[in-house]
Amino acid sequence: LLTITAVGLLATGGLAACGEDSGAGGSERTPKIGVILPDSASSARWETADRKYLESAFIAAGVQYDIQNAQGDKAQFQTIADQMMANGVTILMIVNLDSGTGKAVLDKAKSQGVATIDYDRLTLGGSAEYYVSFDNVAVGKLQGEGLVKCLADKGVKNPVVAELNGSSTDNNATLFKEGYDSILNPKYEAKEFVKGPDQSVPEWDNTQAGTIFEQMLTQERGKIDGVLAANDGMGNAVISVLKKNKLNGKVPVTGQDADVQGLQNILAGDQCMTVYKAIKQEADAAADLAVGLAKGEKRETGQTVKDPEGHRDVPAVLLTPKAIYLENVKDVVTDGFVTRADLCAGE
Ligand code: BGC
Repeated sequence: LLTITAVGLLATGGLAACGEDSGAGGSERTPKIGVILPDSASSARWETADRKYLESAFIAAGVQYDIQNAQGDKAQFQTIADQMMANGVTILMIVNLDSGTGKAVLDKAKSQGVATIDYDRLTLGGSAEYYVSFDNVAVGKLQGEGLVKCLADKGVKNPVVAELNGSSTDNNATLFKEGYDSILNPKYEAKEFVKGPDQSVPEWDNTQAGTIFEQMLTQERGKIDGVLAANDGMGNAVISVLKKNKLNGKVPVTGQDADVQGLQNILAGDQCMTVYKAIKQEADAAADLAVGLAKGEKRETGQTVKDPEGHRDVPAVLLTPKAIYLENVKDVVTDGFVTRADLCAGE
């Protein structure tokens, strides 16, 4: 009876809609894809965008899936991976919390015949079949160019620029910095801009970002004219500190992710710009590769990235990011990433 029920559910795609199931009755021919998201505190994107879009893509493909969030806990990350494999996932997609622990998860999966995908963050020295992300150096360049443009609009002479980088254990943070420093360093060297404090925020922790920025501001005796904040969550923390000091709107702040809070900050004039990454495209691309792997098909991505630690070229999909300023916030709405109602809520 159980088998009949399972078959019935499968035929109607019923099982595909289950976020979690035991894996029992999921025959070898039924692909089951596991996804481990990193946390919910470093950015709103993981729970509000990535989960939703991945879910839709898996449902559309008629595959079983199990999406879980490690909530920033590295031991929990490994436990979730082990449970997923025990429950029969055939493909594992991860957003690592750092390359070391990510590599351990990927290598273990590989040893159990489970194919893996690095989603958004490349695991250095890892063994994933694919890497799906954005051109993250380009993301950083947009941030650097954005800050230059917003500072020019303010007309501040020799502005002091503070840089608040993402987690030093996230390869993306390294790439973002490479991008924005390629724009800002020449400005410092030409003495057009003054290099102020430059610090990484552990785990992209938004609360710590606020504390660190508060210290930066004290250390500079209130003289910070522009802030390169690596994502919207940290940008919002900076803006809260600026508000306390009645400096919001005067000091341009960058961001990334085009999350609701970030876009609201742009509309309010407190944030200079953000970077929109079409996460639906990222989720669709990753889901498509995962479904292919599950069917034993190795798809051509047409691109590779160098893993500097693993000394290998990883087949990759790298999507194009877009800069968002006050003038084109509407593009993010048109793309369906947020709604007008989302942006107006709480205003
Ligand atoms: C992602 C960003 C995100 C950050 C914090 C990065 O790896 O690319 O979109 O804001 O992690 O979660």
